[in-house]
Amino acid sequence: MPYGRQFYRVHGGKDADDVYTVHSQLMSTFSPSCTCPAFAYSVLLSETQLMCKHVLAVRLAERLDKCLVQEGSDDDIAKLCDPPPPKAPPKGK
Ligand SMILES: [Zn+2]
Repeated sequence: MPYGRQFYRVHGGKDADDVYTVHSQLMSTFSPSCTCPAFAYSVLLSETQLMCKHVLAVRLAERLDKCLVQEGSDDDIAKLCDPPPPKAPPKGK
């Protein structure tokens, strides 16, 4: 594990494209981090909540051992952060 970077993708619910990234690496040492607007508003700005539902889901999943673990290179991580191009040619063969 070269970087020790770990995060989870959490599907929001309303929308199939509603996917947020939760950085669990920060959980043990610092406050958790999520990319959704609710986290930014409720947690970071108004401080009315400790975490958003995505972080909560990740914590539950960790407890219940229900996480899908995917190992990936930096390339893969970059792909997770950006939507893939619509018609990418298959590679690796
Ligand atoms: Zn969230």
